[in-house]
Amino acid sequence: MDATATAPRLRITEIFRSLQGEADTAGWPTTFVRLTGCPLRCTYCDSAYAFGGGEWQSLDDIEARVAGFGTPRVCVTGGEPLAQKTCLALLTRLCDAGYRVSLETSGALPLGDVDPRVVKVVDVKTPASGESSRNLLGELSRLQPHDLVKFVICDRADYDWSRALLPTLSLPPGVTVYFSPSHEQLAPGELADWMLADGLAVRLQLQLHKYLWGNVPGR
Ligand code: SF4
Repeated sequence: MDATATAPRLRITEIFRSLQGEADTAGWPTTFVRLTGCPLRCTYCDSAYAFGGGEWQSLDDIEARVAGFGTPRVCVTGGEPLAQKTCLALLTRLCDAGYRVSLETSGALPLGDVDPRVVKVVDVKTPASGESSRNLLGELSRLQPHDLVKFVICDRADYDWSRALLPTLSLPPGVTVYFSPSHEQLAPGELADWMLADGLAVRLQLQLHKYLWGNVPGR
């Protein structure tokens, strides 16, 4: 049998180089590997084009394409990357190759098998996302100090819900929590005012790439 027929593969929507738009590494040139497919349907999803389609690629081919972009940072995203089990092998392989690897995940899938070298960026889905029933909040206790938790806030009701949830979460010490205003739904200054008024120990996050280029695929 042709060995390539049994090589581990992933369905990939796109691989591209851009600037990281989010969290601690915002502004750094980063290669993004966007995996196809997601079991959720958030109301504000900006990557619905990754729900289907895509192209099967071997881990060898993915790693070669990543190497071609020449960035030390790689972000594996989606869709929901963990919906494809082989994503775990890709993450380990990229870490072994010396990249600084981050994973953007919905918070609706287990995290226990993710390579500990990977920086996990884990969403907590708010009510306005329409998917808050999918949150696996118990998984947050597995996080490491280098990991991040992100709430996308759409309106005041989302903010109040998130603020009330924060003290109930079993977050290990050092994990940073971000509140990010849903682009074009909530003014960043309004969210900042609410956070300051309440004195929350939470960081404001703006999606840099959307301010630079708008809401377009591949940026
Ligand atoms: S989890 Fe992410 S990719 Fe999936 S529907 Fe929600 S925002 Fe879109």
